[in-house]
Amino acid sequence: MKAKITRRDFVRTSAAVGAVAGLSTNLYGLPQSKGTRPLVVSSSNGLRTNEKAMQMIRAGADTMDAVIAGVNIVEDDPKDMSVGYGGLPNEEGDVELDASVMHGPSKRAGAVASLRHIKNPSKVAKLVLERTDHVLLVGEGALRFALAHGLKKEDLLTEEARVVWLRWKETRSDRDAWGPGLDAPPDSQTTGLILDSDMKREELLALADRIIASPPTGTINCLAINERGDISGTTTTSGLAFKIPGRVGDSPLIGCGLFVDNEIGAAGSTGRGEECIKINGAHTVVEMMRKGMSPAEACMEAVKRVAANYNNDKKKLQRVGINFYALNKQGEHGAATLWGPSIGEDGRRRRSQYAAHDGRENKRIEIPYLFESLNER
Ligand code: ASP
Repeated sequence: MKAKITRRDFVRTSAAVGAVAGLSTNLYGLPQSKGTRPLVVSSSNGLRTNEKAMQMIRAGADTMDAVIAGVNIVEDDPKDMSVGYGGLPNEEGDVELDASVMHGPSKRAGAVASLRHIKNPSKVAKLVLERTDHVLLVGEGALRFALAHGLKKEDLLTEEARVVWLRWKETRSDRDAWGPGLDAPPDSQTTGLILDSDMKREELLALADRIIASPPTGTINCLAINERGDISGTTTTSGLAFKIPGRVGDSPLIGCGLFVDNEIGAAGSTGRGEECIKINGAHTVVEMMRKGMSPAEACMEAVKRVAANYNNDKKKLQRVGINFYALNKQGEHGAATLWGPSIGEDGRRRRSQYAAHDGRENKRIEIPYLFESLNER
């Protein structure tokens, strides 16, 4: 089924993005970057990741080592509540992490899911790739494997994440014994999961209420190509906040949250993992590039498939946020998202972005979208 994208949506999207990002537009009106190698592309939380990965690639490092070192910065950061240490926990208060990695030149993949106590699941995914002939380890087995390789067992639940989780538990229902039985907080979009430094308790509780109203997802995906055209990628996440223990999203699933084909390009996803899994998102994007689509077009095709699964019903899709990111063998990059700008509580318009480092500049770029946000109308 074809997604209905109105001409107005389409023109607004492409013109605005092309202008803002300084990118030219292609035949289909979607933004088209100029091909450059080396190139590093990440989700919007990846500026520091891009910087690190680019620096390593320039110094001659393998692209896989570069992307892993890049995302380790975000995994280690307690202020990012969507990845690694400080990530929001599952419904029982345990932080469970997922990650995947693919190495284009050797055509290998590794991944871990529902991993507890290890703050760098991307490192464990890389160990699975390098040290076993398996692709995916989960839960207790993944933890034992990590410990056997000398990684440290840690408590990953930060004080801030604990406060947010407990608030979620207490406001969940007025029919259980947790909390004062408050009415559910009003619906609102969660607008970012990076903690400000030194948040006061009231500010943290206000953030918790926004998170509870719309349990967020959050992740980092990083893709890189070097001068020779070798490509790698990784995706790492704490997954859906307050998930049922054992829930696995798209991030550790090869072909969903990440896919690399050294001859074609690479793609990754962040957002509602269940929707990405149902369309095999990253693999779809790479296959569309194989057929000749630009990275941005291929990403938009994946977004349209997500929407088509709901017959493009914007009401049903309201709670779905999903982004795809891609780069191709020529060093062109692009992304696409489901929803256009939303108006934040401060009245400011917020647009989804991704981060790209083309060797000269490392910057955030606005992402073309399929539908305008309902609160924009
Ligand atoms: N895709 C991840 C998941 O569903 C989370 C996210 O990217 O926000 O687990």
